[in-house]
Amino acid sequence: MENFDIAVIGSGPGGYVAAIRSAQLGYKTVIIEKYDTLGGTCTNVGCIPTKALLDSSHHYAEASHQFRDHGIKLETLAVDFPQMYKRKSEVVSKNTSGLDYLMSKNKITRLKGTASFINNSLIKVTDGDQIIEINAGNYIIATGSKPSSIPGVEIDKKRIITSTEALSLKERPKSMVIIGGGVIGVEMASIFSRIGTQVTILEYADHLIAGMDHELGKSLQKTMKKEGVDIRLGQTVYKTETSGSSAKVFFKDKNNEDHELEAEYVLVAVGRSPYTSGLGLENTGIQMDDRGFIKVDEKRKTSVSHIYAIGDVVGGAMLAHKAEEEGVLVAETINGQKRHIHYDRIPSVVYTWPEVASVGFSEEYLKKNNISYHVGKFPFSASARARASMDTEGFAKVLVDPKYGEILGVHIIGARAADLIAQAVIAQEYEVTAEDMFRISYAHPTYSEALKEAYLIASGQGAINI
Ligand code: FAD
Ligand code: NAD
Repeated sequence: MENFDIAVIGSGPGGYVAAIRSAQLGYKTVIIEKYDTLGGTCTNVGCIPTKALLDSSHHYAEASHQFRDHGIKLETLAVDFPQMYKRKSEVVSKNTSGLDYLMSKNKITRLKGTASFINNSLIKVTDGDQIIEINAGNYIIATGSKPSSIPGVEIDKKRIITSTEALSLKERPKSMVIIGGGVIGVEMASIFSRIGTQVTILEYADHLIAGMDHELGKSLQKTMKKEGVDIRLGQTVYKTETSGSSAKVFFKDKNNEDHELEAEYVLVAVGRSPYTSGLGLENTGIQMDDRGFIKVDEKRKTSVSHIYAIGDVVGGAMLAHKAEEEGVLVAETINGQKRHIHYDRIPSVVYTWPEVASVGFSEEYLKKNNISYHVGKFPFSASARARASMDTEGFAKVLVDPKYGEILGVHIIGARAADLIAQAVIAQEYEVTAEDMFRISYAHPTYSEALKEAYLIASGQGAINI
């Protein structure tokens, strides 16, 4: 039996951040991970490898379609698929090694194995034949999520795959049907369509990335269509079949008419479910909701007072940075500090090109809740910086309270939106007004000026710059 102040189960962005902050606060900390490498979904099969492939495929698309206009001639251009994937794996390795370093630097004990609760106070960690028992003053569950499926669709990991298998393919797929036009669906579609795979997206809703302000999805749809992605909205997939080297998808349109498509791969991207299997929660007093998420209070405490849960396994936005914030929150709460998270000020980003980024309320939400707002919208086609780089697609849209100028929501689709959204998060967090935001200086020429113009327009002034 080994004793610790804090035991963290799972080493994704929730777990590793919770462990580091706990150790920084002076707690004797152990982190337990069932896989060989640290980093969880995000580092190994999520955020990091997808962004590596999105960047590689974006460079290829730029070289294919824009270099000529920039005056750059290339005689031969080809995708070296194994090299693209090799670089992706190297990026992942650098990040997992970075985590190894952070664990040893902070003197965090690292255990490989599956953690399972014996009761509310004890866990066992099993790795093959080896079993270690651990007793900790506080536990932090950060076991993340796994891909979901839908009735009639069995993920065989060969022809009917998830994002995880898509990240370890050996050669470029000729064709792919993606079920789900949410975040994973559009990011995966971008990677593969840019390098020549014939991609079809089948989405149930009437918009891509339907959880975000609908204008973003509409604009993204136009761009992806131009890139050659076949996007079919309002479609309900109900069955898949595999036959040797291909798979078939069966779906109904809004008129209930049947359709089918065949492709080399079918990628299922219909959401993710909490991962608690093997955790022995039945041996504890921890409660779960009807969808299997661990129930927690605002401090991420479960129904057992010294057991906390964070990240994807508790639901809410399934985002790495949300899990990270919760990791810090819990470590500091155990330490007696008064921390809180503004969940409505956590940004969402989709790493297509143009990028999509959002914080705060969407127009649909404001309308539904009868909240008055002014819109300020500025197109990147009117931005000097965007013209210089030929990245003129998209817009910056701000939604502002008409009376006090409070910033209710910021929605951007355009080059570098992922980084631009940070200033909107600061503005919302510190409750500055749209006027405060347009009265500060923005470097010229930058993409950020589109936001300044949007704040000006929302405040009743015209645009003043290009
Ligand atoms: P995870 O990262 O899922 O980590 C949980 C860890 O716990 C895993 O390593 C698992 O092996 C381990 N574990 C589970 N059970 C046990 C057990 N009993 N014992 C020991 N270990 C256990 N989010 C973003 O913010 N930005 C992005 O760009 C982004 N891109 C994504 C792309 C893809 C393809 C996917 C699938 C997800 C992406 N996400 C992104 C979401 C992000 O990956 C998750 O929100 C994040 O990883 C959640 O972190 P977590 O710590 O809760 O869990
Ligand atoms: P999602 O919830 O974003 O999208 C799933 C989509 O599948 C929905 O639009 C839904 O309408 C559709 N769908 C469901 N059933 C269907 C059916 N029968 N037929 C057709 N369409 C159907 O989920 P996801 O894309 O799988 O992503 C999972 C999680 O991972 C998300 O919560 C996301 O936050 C996270 N993630 C984040 C990033 C990022 O931050 N850039 C990237 C990837 C994943």
